[in-house]
Amino acid sequence: MKLSQRLNTICEMIPPGSRLADIGSDHALLPTYAVSQGRAAFAIAGEVNRGPYDAASRQVAEAGLKEKIAVRLGDGLAAIRAGEVDVITIAGMGGALIVRILTEGKDKLEGVKRLILQPNVGEDLVRRWLLSEGWMLTGEQILEEEGKIYEVLTADRGESAEQVREHRDRLYAEIEIGEPPITLGRERLLDFGPFLAREASDVFREKWTGEIAKLERVAGSMGRSESEDARGKKEALERHIQFLKEVLACLPKDKPSSN
Ligand code: SAM
Repeated sequence: MKLSQRLNTICEMIPPGSRLADIGSDHALLPTYAVSQGRAAFAIAGEVNRGPYDAASRQVAEAGLKEKIAVRLGDGLAAIRAGEVDVITIAGMGGALIVRILTEGKDKLEGVKRLILQPNVGEDLVRRWLLSEGWMLTGEQILEEEGKIYEVLTADRGESAEQVREHRDRLYAEIEIGEPPITLGRERLLDFGPFLAREASDVFREKWTGEIAKLERVAGSMGRSESEDARGKKEALERHIQFLKEVLACLPKDKPSSN
């Protein structure tokens, strides 16, 4: 069984022998692979939709893993019971939906030691949720596959409130880049990703070059407006684009890609 680079990157973040829940599992490729590789000792594949649920059930049966992978129909974390798993993966959906699933299922997170999250968009929302809920962001990867760029965020529970605080203060401490220097504080690091901004890989540059192009198209389509409000919005967007361009220009060059 061959996994996409995206799913493989997620799989590598699962500590060997974990009890895993993969929420929004679709064809259950990730739990099937994780169990067959020994990354997961046991897994739950959660799906809210009947079609993917049926596909997941078939996949697990064909792999001969019905004893080790439970396929369950349910919305988000409703598919699991509190204390059943220690690692949760949620991949391939928007950041807002991932945040909704985690928020609505907060009572199921007790005992969960690691979250591995791969939002397709809205990565900053996920980082903000992790920060506000006291999860320690411990790793970020960025990769490109078939013309799309993906970020994989890994977060762990701290052992004490003090450890979480120290980790947060270190991770989101202001950094200065370039000459003359630009300061990136907590808010900007939440946008860019604190690990990704420090690493500044080629894929990271490519992602933000693409974001700038998108925002420039939006600014272009805003046109001229008589209204002060609309003019203000356009000017704010143009200032943001300018800021992003300056950040990109300041990033250290020739960093390795995480691909
Ligand atoms: N996780 C797989 C991956 O990354 O390749 C599949 C991603 S697929 C694009 C998103 C899946 O999430 C769909 O199969 C969809 O049915 C499921 N999904 C969406 N909302 C969900 C929710 N609230 N609870 C469980 N599954 C959900």
